Amino acid sequence: MLHTVPVQGDGNGWARCGLGHRHWGRFGAAGLLLVRPVTVEFQVLLQHRAVWTSDGDTWGVPGGARDSHETSVQAALREAAEEAGIVADDVEVAGLWHDDHDGWEYVTVVASALAEIILEPNAESADLRWVELDEVENLHLHSGFAKTWPRVRETYLSR
Ligand SMILES: [Zn+2]
Repeated sequence: MLHTVPVQGDGNGWARCGLGHRHWGRFGAAGLLLVRPVTVEFQVLLQHRAVWTSDGDTWGVPGGARDSHETSVQAALREAAEEAGIVADDVEVAGLWHDDHDGWEYVTVVASALAEIILEPNAESADLRWVELDEVENLHLHSGFAKTWPRVRETYLSR
C-alpha cells in the first residue's frame, strides 16, 4: 500500500466541467452557507468577494477549491476559517447541497451557527455581512450562488 502525503493546496487550479464552464478548483469546490436565527427569522452570512478573486465583486458564501485529501465539509470549513475567521466548533452542519456539473461539483455546506460568530475577513473578503433571507437576491450574486440559493432556501430555510 502506497501512502501519499496530502499536499496542502493541491486543489488550487482551474478545471473544465462537462458543461464546458471553467471553474476554480481542480477537485471541485465547496463553500459554507452559515445560518443564524434572529428572533423568528433567519439570516445568512454572505461574503462580498474581493474584485481580484474569480467572479469577483459579487456576493456569495465563503469557500474555494477542495484539496484532494479533503471532504467537501472539511474544505468549506477550512475556507470559512481562512476567509471569515469562522471556528469549526461554532457551527453545526445541517446538510449538503450538490451542484453537479458533470465531472466537477460545487458543494454548499449548509450549517447553523451555535455561538456568536466573530468575523475576521481576510483579503479575499471585501465584506462579510449577515443578510435577511428576503434581501439576498437584492445583492449582485456570484453566478453559481445565484442558481443555488433559491433551491437551498426552499430545502433548508422555508418555514
Ligand atoms: Zn460547470
